[in-house]
Amino acid sequence: MSYPKKCTNTAVIAVGANLGEKVENSRKGIAALDASGKLEVIRQSGFYLTEPVGYAEQSWFINSVLIARTRLSPFELLGFLKKMERRFGRVDCGIRYGPRVLDFDIIFYNDWVIESRALTVPHPRMQERGFVMNPLCDIAPDWIHPVFQQTVQQLLNKMGAQHEACIPMEALYN
Ligand code: AMP
Repeated sequence: MSYPKKCTNTAVIAVGANLGEKVENSRKGIAALDASGKLEVIRQSGFYLTEPVGYAEQSWFINSVLIARTRLSPFELLGFLKKMERRFGRVDCGIRYGPRVLDFDIIFYNDWVIESRALTVPHPRMQERGFVMNPLCDIAPDWIHPVFQQTVQQLLNKMGAQHEACIPMEALYN
């Protein structure tokens, strides 16, 4: 598939960290994305402290979501984000959903639907994850999920009671 190179695209990226100085790592990672010249961060959620999902024997995560403009194709963006994860010291520990210094996931890319071995967009599990849906709803409640044809706010409402804790960092200091 070929992608238009000239137009600017809008991507939603989820950011997660649960090793080292998690807030600091997230801030530095987001700043590095923005300074890369590959994308421009136009909106950023606050940070959430969240309970690990899938593999519980690890420290809690710091999660956030950002909206960026980019000329990279979805696959170029994925490759770039994986490169940035490695630059920030992420190593594969062999555990699915295991600990990571920094994790970037592509949640949305325009209103495109992509299903390939390397990349699925919208992110296939986003609607089940409070740590994605809560910060996403803070900055883009009206974004329409191109498969479900529902807004992010509607999908969050549908999630109902969430099992894993997801606490806005601001709430911890008030
Ligand atoms: P992760 O452990 O979250 O870094 O993801 C592992 C792999 O998931 C990546 O190497 C990608 O090839 C694949 N993947 C599939 N869809 C996505 C997506 N929407 N965003 C990020 N990674 C994805």
